[in-house]
Amino acid sequence: MARVPSYRLVTGVGCPSKGIVRGPLAVCIIRGEASIMARIPTGIMTLDPGLTDISDEQLACMAEGHDWPKLRLNQVAPKGFRAVRNNDGSFLWVYTCNLCTTTRSRDTLRYGIYDHQAAYSYTYPKWWIHFKADDDMTRARLKRELSKRLHDAIEKSA
Ligand SMILES: [Zn+2]
Repeated sequence: MARVPSYRLVTGVGCPSKGIVRGPLAVCIIRGEASIMARIPTGIMTLDPGLTDISDEQLACMAEGHDWPKLRLNQVAPKGFRAVRNNDGSFLWVYTCNLCTTTRSRDTLRYGIYDHQAAYSYTYPKWWIHFKADDDMTRARLKRELSKRLHDAIEKSA
């Protein structure tokens, strides 16, 4: 049986007891058969002014991690992955993020054997904004901003 949420966000969608809701964001709180409308407190959906210059792609990758191509058995190399042959018989593995196009690369041992001691090096797109450690760019802050920008999509999937 599908799980029934105890509340859901509604914007122009019906809340069972109140019919169609229009205008400001509101929460439809459902308890059993009963439901009530409650407005979302003013300001809670305001976007973070310190993150306005950050693109949706950068925000998503910083909050949720990059979308690196994954190597799978019995498949061709995935889109966004390529190997460059080095002169010594090793390879450079290059991954390109499917969302923001950042690349990370690392060398293998000879014959293309994975080298656990190799480090990734990263190349960011020109538009990427780099932050300093004192910018207070916590994962929680980034995820909160992402949830606001994604509000409509999240609501539709509820
Ligand atoms: Zn990315």
